[in-house]
Parts: sequence; C-alpha cells; structure tokens
Amino acid sequence: MKRLGRLEITTRIGCSCNCKYCPQSLLIEKYLIRKKENMFKTEMSFDTFKTCIDKLPEGTRIDFSGMAEPWLNSDCTKMVLYAYEKKFPIAIYTTLVGMTEDDFEAIKDIPVEEFVLHIPDNKSNSNISITEGYLKLLNKVIHYRQKDGGVELVTGYSCHAGIHPAIIDTIPQESILITEMNDRAGNLENYEYVENKKNIGEIICVNCEADIHHNVLLPDGTLLLCCMDYGMKHILGNLLEQDYEMLHESVEAKKIIDGFKDDTIDTLCRNCINARIINELYDDFTVFVDWDKKLVRQNKQNIKERDDYKNCVENLQNKIEEMKVEESKMEQQYNDRINELYDYKNWVSNLQNQIEKMKVEESKMEQQYNDRINELNNYQKWVSNLQNQIEEMKAEESKMEERFNDRQNELQDYQKWVSNLQNQIEKMKIE
Ligand code: SF4
Ligand code: SF4
Repeated sequence: MKRLGRLEITTRIGCSCNCKYCPQSLLIEKYLIRKKENMFKTEMSFDTFKTCIDKLPEGTRIDFSGMAEPWLNSDCTKMVLYAYEKKFPIAIYTTLVGMTEDDFEAIKDIPVEEFVLHIPDNKSNSNISITEGYLKLLNKVIHYRQKDGGVELVTGYSCHAGIHPAIIDTIPQESILITEMNDRAGNLENYEYVENKKNIGEIICVNCEADIHHNVLLPDGTLLLCCMDYGMKHILGNLLEQDYEMLHESVEAKKIIDGFKDDTIDTLCRNCINARIINELYDDFTVFVDWDKKLVRQNKQNIKERDDYKNCVENLQNKIEEMKVEESKMEQQYNDRINELYDYKNWVSNLQNQIEKMKVEESKMEQQYNDRINELNNYQKWVSNLQNQIEEMKAEESKMEERFNDRQNELQDYQKWVSNLQNQIEKMKIE
C-alpha cells in the first residue's frame, strides 16, 4: 500500500531560536542567493500556503515544523485552520515562540496526529527565551486536554540536553523526551554532539521511503527533498508553478531515487542518519529471520503455555462456579440458621415474658397465700379464744349446774321442810 506523504511547512526563512544543532546560517545563505527571483520572499504568505496546499493529494499530512519555528509567521494559525478546514491530517512541532494565547485558543481543539513541544534545555542548545508570557502559555498548553478534558494535547517533548531548570517542574515526569541530534545529512559541521555518516551501496530512506514524499515547502513555494536539506541541495521544483506529482517526477526527484541504488550519484542521503544500507539491512534481516524463528518457537511454547494457562483458568473458573454454588448453599443454610436463631430468640423472649408474667402471678398468689395464712392464724386464734370461752362457759355451766343442783336440793329440803311444816300445821290444827 502506498504510504501517504507529508509536507513540512517552513513558514519563514530565519529562525530566531537559532539552535546550535540547526544549520540556519546555511539555509539563509542558500536562500538569499535567490533574492533576485520574482517569487522571492522570506515569509510565506497565506495565499502561497493556500495555493500549495490545494495541490496536495487527499490525506497528505501537513506538518507545521519545517526549517523555522512555524509561529514566527503571524499567519501560521490561519494556515493551521485552513489545513483543518481542508481535512488534511495535521501535526504541530513548536517552541511556542511567536505563538500568542489567542493563537492557542484558536487551534487548541483541532485534532492533531502530533503536538510536540520543543522546550528549552539546560545547555542552551536551543535559544528559547523563558519569559513570563512564555511560561504562562507553556503551562496552558501542557495541561490542555482536548475532547472535553479527556485527551492530552501534547504528545511529546523535544529537548536537546537536560530540561532547563526554570521549567523542569512544569514538564510532566512521565513525558516522552525526543533528545536526538544529528548533522542534518552532513549540513552541520564541527558540532560536538553529532556524528557524520557515510552510506555506501544500495540504500533506502526510513523517513521518506522510496517515493520521497516527505518534503519541505519554503516560503516562496520551493519544494525541498526533506527536512535534512538546509543547504537546498535537492530542489524538486516550485509548488506554486507545478503540480505536486510532476515535482516527484522531476529530474532532481529521479536523481535522488536513482541515488538510492547508485552510490556514485551525489545525494544528501549518502550522509543521512535516516538512510539504511540494504546489505546491512539484509544482515539485519538474517538476524531478524533467526530471531523470528526463535520467536516462532517461543510463540509455540507461549501458545502451549497459554493453552495450559487457559485450561488452568477454565478449571479454576469451574471450581469458582462450584464454590459459588457451595457458597450459595452455605449462604442459604446460614440464612436458615439465622432465621431459626431469630425464631428461637423470639421464643425465648416470649418465654421470658411468660416467666415474668408467671412471676408476677406467683407473687400475687404468694401474697394471697400469706393473706390466707394470716387469716387462718387469726381464725385459729379466734377458735382458740372461742374454745377457751366454751371451756370457761362449760366451767360456768358446771358451776351453775352445781348451784342449780344445790338449789334443787335446797328446794327439795325446803319442800320437805314445807311439807313437814304443813304436816305439823295440820297436826296442830287437828290438835
Ligand atoms: S531547531 Fe527548530 S527552533 Fe531551533 S533553530 Fe532550527 S527550526 Fe528554529
Ligand atoms: S535519506 Fe535523509 S536525506 Fe535522503 S530523503 Fe531520507 S531523510 Fe532526506
């Protein structure tokens, strides 16, 4: 499948950041040679941008990066919005130099494939001045989340030494830092941090592949081979004047493509870190094949282990299901026991109530019993008194009977006396 191309936009010539590892002076020197040409301009106009963009195939990614900080051109935000309106994929690589808060507000919710922040380093390899305004905007950009606060806007950081102490606390600790520096395919000389490379034999470019569709657009419409070409060695043509595909069929384009195979053709690619030597790739490929075989073996082993693991997991899941059933039964039993316990507690509570009632009842009966006992005692006393009275009455009766008998006897004696007396009276009368 043919890979979609990319176009890096250089919105102006001359970058005030003037990073130590960036061949700015070479670019300015080569660009200024064309000063007498009609279309010469150091800052890309919006019209130039629009005309060039309108010629690109659908799906070409527009990278706002190029050979200068994009926002050093005040029309940069307008260009981003136009690219978005035209539905091109977009990537942004910026130092924030030249970007205002209004610029950021205008672009902050545009979907981007990359938003890489080039930040100041502790060795002043990049000359990005850290002002109050810069820090405020940096903070805002770093913490901005697109889609209603969901997705972080910044996808990575470019920093060409340690992070500058003034911003080290602002950069999230887990951030991906791009620190690589190179000599821009031999365009940067005598710089301590980069190494020169020489590619012999057949090569390919890992950045642009074989169809060299990863180019750089300059302010006057010039289309350069790629972001390595600060010396403007490979000009494919001018996009203001020619069609995009025509530029890739130009003599210069063919030369570069032929140069991939033929190392006698002088191209930048021969000194570029993005070029890979096919033979080395073949060696790498052989190593890769061995490695792949090992991987296949390892993969088989992994598949077996995975199947064992799956079986183990299935067994475990079955056991878990059984345990769940068991647990459910035990839970049911537990609930039954709990219900029984509640019933028992209710029964005990009722029993206690009954016992309490019986105690009250018992207490009443005890009271009644004591009352009856007291009454009985009183009755016994009364009976005893009565018996005493009866005894006394009997004794009295006996005495009275005795007196009665005495009176009877006295009466009889009196009657006898009276009778005798009467007899005597009779006798006396008679006499
Ligand atoms: S690396 Fe980027 S920011 Fe630095 S001078 Fe080059 S274009 Fe400008
Ligand atoms: S190999 Fe380097 S110089 Fe050649 S096209 Fe690729 S990036 Fe550009």
